[in-house]
Amino acid sequence: MDVSLTRNFCIIAHVDHGKTTLSDRLLEYTNTVTQRVLTAQHLDSMDLEKERGITIKSHPVTMHYPAKDGLIYKINLMDTPGHVDFAYEVSRSLAACEGAVLLIDAAQGVEAQTVANAHLATAQGLKIIPVINKIDLPSANLDLCITQLEDILMIPGEEAILASGKSGIGIQDILEAVVARIPPPRWSHHPAVRALVFDSLYDSYRGVITYARVFSGSVKAGDQMLLMSNNQKSEIKEVGVFTPKMTKMDTLGAGDVGYVISNIKDTSDIKIGDTLTLVKNPATDMLPGYKEVRPMVFCGLYPLESQDYEKLKAALSRLRLNDAAFLYSSESSVALGFGFRCGFLGLLHMEIIQERVRREHDVEIISTYPSVVYKVKTHGKDEIEVDNPVNLPDPGTILYISEPTIRASIHIPNESMGDILSLIMEKRGVCDQTDTLDGNRVMLTCNLPLNEILVDFNDRLKSVTHGYGSMDYELGAYQESDLVKMDIMINGDPVDAFSSIVHRDKAEGKGRVLCEKLAEIIPPQMFKVAIQAAIGGKIIARDNVKEMRKDVTAKCYGGDISRKRKLLDKQKEGKKKMKMIGKVNIPPDTFIQILKN
Ligand code: GDP
Repeated sequence: MDVSLTRNFCIIAHVDHGKTTLSDRLLEYTNTVTQRVLTAQHLDSMDLEKERGITIKSHPVTMHYPAKDGLIYKINLMDTPGHVDFAYEVSRSLAACEGAVLLIDAAQGVEAQTVANAHLATAQGLKIIPVINKIDLPSANLDLCITQLEDILMIPGEEAILASGKSGIGIQDILEAVVARIPPPRWSHHPAVRALVFDSLYDSYRGVITYARVFSGSVKAGDQMLLMSNNQKSEIKEVGVFTPKMTKMDTLGAGDVGYVISNIKDTSDIKIGDTLTLVKNPATDMLPGYKEVRPMVFCGLYPLESQDYEKLKAALSRLRLNDAAFLYSSESSVALGFGFRCGFLGLLHMEIIQERVRREHDVEIISTYPSVVYKVKTHGKDEIEVDNPVNLPDPGTILYISEPTIRASIHIPNESMGDILSLIMEKRGVCDQTDTLDGNRVMLTCNLPLNEILVDFNDRLKSVTHGYGSMDYELGAYQESDLVKMDIMINGDPVDAFSSIVHRDKAEGKGRVLCEKLAEIIPPQMFKVAIQAAIGGKIIARDNVKEMRKDVTAKCYGGDISRKRKLLDKQKEGKKKMKMIGKVNIPPDTFIQILKN
């Protein structure tokens, strides 16, 4: 097929601005799927995604659209994850397109992720088609959206298409704009085969499935392929496209987006952003923009029941197969036994993996405090990376510790300015730029330590701004800080799982809060139990767990013996699930509760 009749685009939007709904309308309009099949929203296939409304994995879909000019176009729609944790996946999906539909919720206007995504798309040289969505809403404010489009994104307002994914307004206009405004596939005349790897998936029957966008040449079953970043060679078994289900094709040619199945066994051999070429007449230059993704947030995951260790190991290895950005290696903890150190792109990525271990693999797990990767220099040794506070060298030998920072853009209503500035200050951030977005909103640009936004920054931002604030960030440089290791001790035993690296000025306050919370969450004990926070040997905060035995049957008046037995059984069950630390039973969700609060 002639590349001039192919268009590759993606939809970029802030979470909840209607990307999934609109994608479904486009599939329906082009008869790619029938309405009947579209019972569940089509592009978000994982349960968890549906629940959280976040697209995690990019699923491309090929559609055929008979345009008003009488020609039938092959249109590939790439789905992009909307959340900052997946920014690298967003930029890979963008790199596989020539254009992007930028969705703006007519009632919400431009948000931080809209701006961040628009910048990513412009940086990749993509043509942007602005779409103001959800115009059916009574609260839609079209004038404001157009002004924001012009003032913040520098996109002429008359380019905007008005749409509603829900009511089916503007669907044809969007498809016509895709055909007319987005250029046909670029770099198709390169002399060698080059395809961009933008995702991979593990399927238990078919093995590793590589998602690729072919830029030049073509690939087919039987070809010997070569991955340029690691020189991995393998034979292609099958190629095809997503319609949206996997559909086998004879070849994938220039401009096509689809899948390649080869005899590669391990998804970790497939690196997102890599260039796929053929062993025969290989390309010499990779497609631009490949970089190694490195996990930025680490935590320990332990099975609640030690006999579940193998089950947890199997679960993690399965998850890793589908997610090359997730890393794990075995570790052990005095308090928690044998488990795994896991690395994630960000906090959301961490939550999703933990949730999938619990739900899809049915393993109860306990998680340690999350940590970023610190760089530590000691006397006479090279700088080392520390992602687990337990491995921090002896404080006496440390010359400096530096921590990763982020560059954040935060959109807020004017009236929240004071609260947000104090939140940023509390989180050790420095704000260096304030831009007015419109009469009601401002954008703050600031540097913050990554560690400080790990736990509750986003929730606090949302609550202070009554849900109207939004944030996006990219990683910044490392900076030296006065950081110390804080230990938490239960009944005199340091709980390695609760150790954390904190800024010295915040250690005491944080220690006090942690001790208080633990004292509250840990159920009353038969004996006196002290909870202490310490830096080095110095105690900086303490609290006590309540002392008494709670007899659950006490509240059952009368002699209903079966009810009493039920309660006792329940109590026994609860006990069985607890973890013993310093002779104290810790309920399984203690760690999560501590993290969440
Ligand atoms: P995504 O997070 O960007 O994929 O957004 P979804 O497509 O999941 O939509 C988020 C929410 O907005 C859902 O509750 C949708 O029902 C709703 N929604 C999506 N499109 C429209 C629209 O055009 N009009 C209205 N009123 N609601 C919409």
